[in-house]
Amino acid sequence: MPSTVNPSLIDDLVVANHILVNEGVLDGFGHISVRHDKDPNLFFIARSMAPALVTHDDILCCNLEGEVIDQLGRHSYVERFIHSEIFKLRADIHSVIHSHSPAIIPFGVTAQRLRPICHMSGFLGSSTPVYEIRDSIGESSDLLIRSQALGHDLAKVLGPNAVALLRGHGNVCVGESIKQSVFRAIYTENNAKLQLQSQNLGEITYLTPEESVATSKMNDQHLDRPWQMWKRRAQN
Ligand code: MN
Repeated sequence: MPSTVNPSLIDDLVVANHILVNEGVLDGFGHISVRHDKDPNLFFIARSMAPALVTHDDILCCNLEGEVIDQLGRHSYVERFIHSEIFKLRADIHSVIHSHSPAIIPFGVTAQRLRPICHMSGFLGSSTPVYEIRDSIGESSDLLIRSQALGHDLAKVLGPNAVALLRGHGNVCVGESIKQSVFRAIYTENNAKLQLQSQNLGEITYLTPEESVATSKMNDQHLDRPWQMWKRRAQN
């Protein structure tokens, strides 16, 4: 691992793995990455393993081609190209989460779009695009983002948004920091549950685009508060 990286970034990445499992976003699968604080062409991610068990020694450094550069015989996740291609296309993004968090799945397989239903999920904005892997490689894939080409297609569909769904598979949440991507991943799952509940009661009043921007801006000023709580909860 390049010695110049800020060690607290790796500390936070390890903790984020545990938080995301503890809060029901990740299970035995899924991953979170963070861009190198000194070299934007590198990022850190765990070796291929269950996120709940990740320690400092399991963190690898990858380049934007998705190659592990300090491999020591270890391998990262097959779907690391989700991270490398989003980091390549989005200079503003410093952390990427790919999960299969369950409540979001229905919105990737129906015409019902995931939309911001409350002030904690304004970052969803007016659009949560769905990536259809069949558009890239036809109808017989295993749905995994196994190549740079698939990662690129997904990153294009994500566009400038905070969240994109992968049809029949999961989602990606991106942020300018680990704290922001973790916040977004947890509240995206939360929003999906609330939306599923609300639609049984009748027509839903969603946030307006202006409310989405204003609430998102407000929450970004308080990312540390829930982070400290989630961290404590994950460590107990
Ligand atoms: Mn996956």
